[in-house]
Amino acid sequence: MSDRCCGTTAIEIEPFTTPQQTTPGQTGALPVVVIGAGPVGLAAAAHLAERGIDFTILEAGDRVAASVAQWGHVRVFSPWKYNVDAAARRLLEADGWTAPDGEWLPTGAELIDDYLAPLAKLFGDRVRLGVKVTAISRLGYDRVRTAGREEVPFLIRLESGEELRARAIVDASGTYTSPNVLGASGLPAHGEGAVFVDHALPDVLGADRDRYEGRHTLVVGAGHSAATTLLALAELPDTPITWAIRGGSASRTYGGGDADALPARGALGTRLRAHVESGRITLLTGFFTHRVNATDQGVEVVSRDPSGHEQSVTVDRIVSATGYRPDHSIAAELRLDLDPVLGSTRALAPLIDPNQHSCGTVPAHGVDELAHPEPGYYAVGVKSYGRAPTFLMATGYEQVRSVVSALAGDWDAARDVQLDLPETGVCSSNLAEAQEQRVGLATGISGGLLSTPLPLATATATAESGGGCCG
Ligand SMILES: Cc1cc2nc3c(=O)[nH]c(=O)nc-3n(C[C@H](O)[C@H](O)[C@H](O)COP(=O)(O)OP(=O)(O)OC[C@H]3O[C@@H](n4cnc5c(N)ncnc54)[C@H](O)[C@@H]3O)c2cc1C
Repeated sequence: MSDRCCGTTAIEIEPFTTPQQTTPGQTGALPVVVIGAGPVGLAAAAHLAERGIDFTILEAGDRVAASVAQWGHVRVFSPWKYNVDAAARRLLEADGWTAPDGEWLPTGAELIDDYLAPLAKLFGDRVRLGVKVTAISRLGYDRVRTAGREEVPFLIRLESGEELRARAIVDASGTYTSPNVLGASGLPAHGEGAVFVDHALPDVLGADRDRYEGRHTLVVGAGHSAATTLLALAELPDTPITWAIRGGSASRTYGGGDADALPARGALGTRLRAHVESGRITLLTGFFTHRVNATDQGVEVVSRDPSGHEQSVTVDRIVSATGYRPDHSIAAELRLDLDPVLGSTRALAPLIDPNQHSCGTVPAHGVDELAHPEPGYYAVGVKSYGRAPTFLMATGYEQVRSVVSALAGDWDAARDVQLDLPETGVCSSNLAEAQEQRVGLATGISGGLLSTPLPLATATATAESGGGCCG
């Protein structure tokens, strides 16, 4: 029994063990710092607690899982059985927690209330809320200085100016707080900073209804976040809706309708297509957002395509559903090896390439694929995927199990990465049920609206093989 890490849990916490292959010397007595108290940061903490490794979680928000809370009204597409980390489950069950129905699809709010908040409670004051990490370096070392680098602690600077030291960093700060820009070329549209743009997935039928009802709203983006928001807006009376996409047609968002191999995606697309064909939603194709201007009539949004042709629309509100990107700026003084396309590690990039993989076919991976040249720094969770929209909590949980095993010096466990996911069933969702309850379906995830459960596919990756697709 330990009250050091986990409050009243009956789990035996191993005494602190010095890792064999990580930062030795003066760093050994320092805690591991976990950045972000989302699902993956908290799972990392659960594994650290089980291994008896001292840790602190730093969370920028004023509550745990602050980013998940932002989309709390959205029902996820993977059922509970894939959303609870194994170490977290052991700690919680030892504390008397009863797991929710494994087949149920929780909303973001249920994920927090029924799982993440009780988990964080076990860690007591090891979870610090309202503390934003602004920079990470190594004590007395900038990025260039090499000799003895591995021997010195990490230095973490907080927004308040406070500085902390750590033996290792598990950066689970996510991507939700760094959305992609509206500008079509990946650069902010001219004037983008001067007008108000809503983040993806507003609670259109709930808390945010007053902001949208009766207002002409432009939704920018071609993914499921955009589709979810458009369908919700279509339920509001007297609310003009415009949908802007870069492509020449919305066929990718519509999917294959009745012929779609993925029926729920097809159903969503069919409804969206019907709204476009009936004129309820005005679709602007070939829309390359270039400039936004506040006018007396509203916000004028101007597209300029690569040939220079312009079109524009004036609206009351803009919802940007253009995806997310990782913010590596806090680690700018560390030695990172980033894939030039995705912004993940280079070793991970081919395993998560959205051109090759949906969320259910990403192979298991761990510490070897997540390691940077900077020893002891690991970006995990959705941040580790960079711009790839194929991340699942289940893969993040295996990442942190592997990384924490390595930090504990247990390299056999670290390299024994396993992931059992149905190739598409993990993304399954009962669309009708979710929509009956007037909550959006999950989004932002490639293959995120799949509904046909397929047989279990097992993926095992080793450091030697570099992993293989579970395909
Ligand atoms: C709408 C939506 C639905 C999804 N549905 C599913 C699903 O069904 N199944 C699934 O497996 N995955 C789903 N995902 C993908 C993914 O699993 C989630 O995004 C998940 O929340 C990622 O967990 P994380 O811990 O990596 O990051 P996050 O949940 O984003 O947590 C990061 C945390 O770090 C904090 N933070 C950020 N910057 C700092 C800083 N500088 N200092 C300190 N703290 C910081 C944030 O406040 C946040 O609490 C969904 C994602 C979205 C957006």
